[in-house]
Amino acid sequence: MESKKILVIEDEKPIADILKYGFEKEGFLVQCAYTGAEGFSMARGNPPDLVLLDWMLPDISGVDVCRMLTEQYRIPIIMLTARGTVEDKLYGLESGADDYITKPFDLREVVARVRTILRRFDKARGNTADDRLVCGHLTLIEREHSVYRDGALLNLTPKEYELLVCFLKHPRQVFTRTALLDQIWGYDFVGDTRTVDIHVQRIRKKAGLEDTLVTVFGVGYKYVP
Ligand code: CA
Repeated sequence: MESKKILVIEDEKPIADILKYGFEKEGFLVQCAYTGAEGFSMARGNPPDLVLLDWMLPDISGVDVCRMLTEQYRIPIIMLTARGTVEDKLYGLESGADDYITKPFDLREVVARVRTILRRFDKARGNTADDRLVCGHLTLIEREHSVYRDGALLNLTPKEYELLVCFLKHPRQVFTRTALLDQIWGYDFVGDTRTVDIHVQRIRKKAGLEDTLVTVFGVGYKYVP
């Protein structure tokens, strides 16, 4: 199996070194960037399979780097940060990050989370079924890991994509926030159910589902095409 490429964007060299050492030991290929600009240009030149991204960088904030990356690529991103309040977590996730790890971290835990996200991402991307799922204005093509609205590709983050796929595949089924959190983010995710709300709001806007991805008051959400 081909080694997965990880891009570490972290200005604190000792931390970058620990991550590089830890992931290389586990068979990953690791590149390190020490500023946001450097990281962004590395990702552009040689897109990695996953980005570990520090929140506090000397030039561009990690949140902005995250936005810049997710605008152009569908690369899973894990934010690293010394901060740990719920607000910061939500802010980080709003920027398109897939997961959130607070420093100081346990290297084994970081590796485990990276593996989980890569597995989930591969599974979604590797589905080779050739059929298209058409729901109203939307068309899901799983082998492309893409959703189109009236022929135009939607610019979705990995989490938004997974969430939207879940709704498209189960029209009219009501999903609770907790069920979605477990299914899309995994049981070990540290955020809360507001994460789901934020992502649903973004999907509604991006995919034009303001009227069809509806809130079931006190329960959760359902898609009514
Ligand atoms: Ca830093």
